[in-house]
Amino acid sequence: MIPHDSNMDDYPQQSSNQINQEDRPDKQEEACGVFGIYAPGEDVAKLTYFGLYALQHRGQESAGIATFEGTTVHLHKDMGLVSQVFNESVLQELPGNLAVGHTRYSTTGSSRKVNAQPAVVDSRLGKLALAHNGNLVNTVQLREELLQSQCNLVTTTDSEMVAFAIAEEVNAGANWVDGCIQACRRCQGAFSLVIGTPDGVMGVRDPNGIRPLVIGILTGEPERYVLASETCGLDIIGAEYLRDVLPGELVWINEEGLTSIQWQQQSQRKLCIFEMIYFARPDSLMHEETLYSYRMRLGRRLAAESAVEADLVFGVPDSGIPAAIGFSQASGVAYGEGLIKNRYVGRTFIQPTQTMRESGLRMKLNPLKDVLAGKRVVIVDDSIVRGTTSRKLVKTLREAGAVEVHMRISSPPVTHPCFYGIDTDTQDQLIAATKSVAEIAKQLEVDSLAYLSWEGMLEATREDTNSFCSACFTGDYPVAIPEQVKRSKLILEKATV
Ligand code: SF4
Repeated sequence: MIPHDSNMDDYPQQSSNQINQEDRPDKQEEACGVFGIYAPGEDVAKLTYFGLYALQHRGQESAGIATFEGTTVHLHKDMGLVSQVFNESVLQELPGNLAVGHTRYSTTGSSRKVNAQPAVVDSRLGKLALAHNGNLVNTVQLREELLQSQCNLVTTTDSEMVAFAIAEEVNAGANWVDGCIQACRRCQGAFSLVIGTPDGVMGVRDPNGIRPLVIGILTGEPERYVLASETCGLDIIGAEYLRDVLPGELVWINEEGLTSIQWQQQSQRKLCIFEMIYFARPDSLMHEETLYSYRMRLGRRLAAESAVEADLVFGVPDSGIPAAIGFSQASGVAYGEGLIKNRYVGRTFIQPTQTMRESGLRMKLNPLKDVLAGKRVVIVDDSIVRGTTSRKLVKTLREAGAVEVHMRISSPPVTHPCFYGIDTDTQDQLIAATKSVAEIAKQLEVDSLAYLSWEGMLEATREDTNSFCSACFTGDYPVAIPEQVKRSKLILEKATV
């Protein structure tokens, strides 16, 4: 599916190096979904296909599956959605006992087929296939190390570097698990990895657990283990959620079952709070409840912090809806629908003309004119990034007859870019990095605008509030960002906020 966002008209999904700024979705975008399964005797390629199908929201540019049949690796990957890349006959060409899969939205490395994952690399013990969610921040150093030892890097992704680093450690004499641990110790940043080998599957999380990774069980005799970025990737194949892979943990899954190794003492866990607010699917479980429930609480808190007199509240479909329901429950403002989403929007390569854009071509959302006419409305969204989409949306609601438009955002202002695997704009393009809330309200032409407080967002998790990364709201990055990497995205002089 096209990014699970609320954009009015996030025009065709293209490779990121082709997208002009106006056409880029006005949302932070999730960067990858990973899946792995060890299940001899089962159709592992098909199970992985369905797992990736459920994780499609985590990356729509490319998809890939690698299966292991003894020491032979069967690999198929291409640009496109999971349903476009695979069909029955392709899946039949992927026999094996275990599989690793990946959906990708590029954050490092351009959007090309060669950068699609899993990345397959040869080693002394056979091939390995690696699927990565996250971003390393020390790629310059790691790349230099690998090039010095004559590694034949063929892509521009940090994921391939991790695969080569594991192969290098294995070639120096380590077994799969030790080789992976030693390679992970050379990596800094965010990484949730699923790695296939001829002998079993590994799942690994970085010491801060910035990106999610869960373990599931396919019941039967014997029980089989599954790894996925989110629990929705387990539900689809009927696997039961067992637990999260812990920050700094490696799990090794083979014929003997699952072995856990804490390869790095856990630092403070720093799960990306944006996974909770928006990226992960609302039906996925985090901390034993669905994200739908958390997002409703965000809406309730938002109403408590920033009530407004109005006739109707609605969310920007789909991601703003749970918070809008929560807002309605806490404020007493009636909940309804004000915008209808075209649920059948697929990938299109037809570019609208400038005239079509100016005349308000609405590819995804259409207002309900009779519902909106004469109403004071509250529209709830999960975030504002550049503000271009929000502005168009407000204009549309007014044209449809709304007499007042109040905007409520169920997260704080996004002031900093992400370096840990989310595709964000550079800081100067983030509207809240350079404008106050009052200035943003003026630019969006709303009657009022309020964001949820940082404290409110974290307290609504009902968890230790220190256990989340919220750097895109604060600039407080849990894993230090090297200066040259910072320069690529940050305004280095302090922004006026
Ligand atoms: S910087 Fe923001 S988007 Fe990136 S990991 Fe931290 S909270 Fe998530």
